[in-house]
Amino acid sequence: MGAHISIPMYQRAVPQRYRLAGQRCLNCGRVNFPPKATCKYCFTGSEFEEVTLSGRGIVYSYTIIAGGGAPPEFSDQAHCQGSYPVVLVELEEGPRVIAQLVDPPAEGISIGMPVQAVFRKIYEEEGVIRYGFKFRPV
Ligand SMILES: [Zn+2]
Repeated sequence: MGAHISIPMYQRAVPQRYRLAGQRCLNCGRVNFPPKATCKYCFTGSEFEEVTLSGRGIVYSYTIIAGGGAPPEFSDQAHCQGSYPVVLVELEEGPRVIAQLVDPPAEGISIGMPVQAVFRKIYEEEGVIRYGFKFRPV
């Protein structure tokens, strides 16, 4: 089954997946993404204001998924492309998020490379196309 996400679970996460909706902790001021019930930075804040993240950030780390290492929902993509890069991006608002990188530069991915989130099809499951964000170099 891998990382199966049911349709209701997916739909509840649509704001963060579609609009990069994060939350600013009213206790410590740091931005949580994805949203949490309790702030993951100060461990006490439980009141938040919603913030829409810019999607701009830098590559903090990355890896290349290949050789059958893809989760089941991405096996078709891995089969078609052979391999694909996944980046850990530090957003300018602070949170670090993992997503695929599209249009990787010919000279290769580098730590610190500026990227921008773009809205893309992620995969299809139960006949529903799941959308979300990936990153591309800027
Ligand atoms: Zn906090």
